[in-house]
Amino acid sequence: MTELVCEIAVIGAGPAGSSAARAAAASGADVLLLERRSEIGVPVRCAEFIPAPLVGMVPKGDFIVQPIKGMRTFLNGEQIQHLDAPGFTICRDRFDKLLAADAVAAGARLLTGVFVAGRDGATLKACREDERISVRAAVVIGADGPHSRVARWMNSINSRCLPAVQMGVDLTRPLEETEFYFCEDIPGGYGWLFPKGRRANVGVGMTARKPSVLYAAIDNLLHLLSSQGKIFSVSRSLTGGGWVPAVAPRSIVRDNMLLTGDAAGYTHPITGGGVFQAVVGGGMAGNWAARALQAGNIKLLRAYEEEWNDYYGDTLAHAFQRRQLLEEHAGPLHDIIERCWIGFKDYYAES
Ligand SMILES: Cc1cc2nc3c(=O)[nH]c(=O)nc-3n(C[C@H](O)[C@H](O)[C@H](O)COP(=O)(O)OP(=O)(O)OC[C@H]3O[C@@H](n4cnc5c(N)ncnc54)[C@H](O)[C@@H]3O)c2cc1C
Repeated sequence: MTELVCEIAVIGAGPAGSSAARAAAASGADVLLLERRSEIGVPVRCAEFIPAPLVGMVPKGDFIVQPIKGMRTFLNGEQIQHLDAPGFTICRDRFDKLLAADAVAAGARLLTGVFVAGRDGATLKACREDERISVRAAVVIGADGPHSRVARWMNSINSRCLPAVQMGVDLTRPLEETEFYFCEDIPGGYGWLFPKGRRANVGVGMTARKPSVLYAAIDNLLHLLSSQGKIFSVSRSLTGGGWVPAVAPRSIVRDNMLLTGDAAGYTHPITGGGVFQAVVGGGMAGNWAARALQAGNIKLLRAYEEEWNDYYGDTLAHAFQRRQLLEEHAGPLHDIIERCWIGFKDYYAES
């Protein structure tokens, strides 16, 4: 048994965990960052679009693939909206590695290949292959993704996660915009095409959980894109996908534990985007964990939840309300889409 001691244990080295570890270590805390994957960021489970402002908030690195000028929205194959929406498509694995390296440069200790399986009182129980590891930490930050174990310990899980499937395709010509596809066979969600140079990520995410429904929807989208001449025709071969939390804001601090990123349900319930919130919210979690320890007052962790809610609570609550509207609506999609998709000004109306 390997016994480790630290002030702050961060579970999960995605964007949220690495940002939390960097912030806490930069404030002088003794931080252990535990990641179950042996290689950070691999496999990629993301469509790899980030909004432009995020680039100024992370270290410089070679993760950007191309700039994105705007977004196009399609309903039943027809374009219904075109907006400026600057951002970048990225290599998510390089991005995640860069953030983890930044946390290490700030003084955090990173252990990969370590699966945190449970806890016994104040001690975390983990393993790396046959090695058993115990970790004693004054504060635990759960940055362990949509199906977070830490959230389970706190009795504050994501009550709902939506499935998404994705694959990489070849474009017939480069594109400068992200594309969002709405239609009846993608209930409660959408299909996407996000260009990455000569390649693109194409996927669907929705409320239906049956694999056959997801596969039929991505097949239909691939067929449409190929008939529009945007992609070379392909047969389905999924490379990425995963689960997207779609929840209302909730309590994310309990005792000496706090949640951040997807574990805390920060993902936007309408767009499914969560990398920006993971970086910002992770930084807040790490800051407050270090401050609480420095002050010798664990109750200060509550200030993290307050700061996060001030920053993003209203946006999340509004998006969740729009998700409910979208799902409760029984009529055709074109009757509701302008109130439930971020591309339209009615989305931002109060009711
Ligand atoms: C198909 C798909 C497409 C998406 N596309 C976009 C997009 O284009 N843009 C965008 O902004 N967002 C997108 N998202 C959402 C985005 O990927 C997440 O919001 C983001 O990854 C959240 O970061 P995180 O650090 O909270 O969690 P994660 O990135 O999930 O990181 C959690 C980490 O914790 C580790 N872990 C889990 N359990 C344990 C354990 N018990 N012990 C140790 N380690 C553990 C995992 O291995 C993982 O590395 C997409 C999501 C999906 C599923």
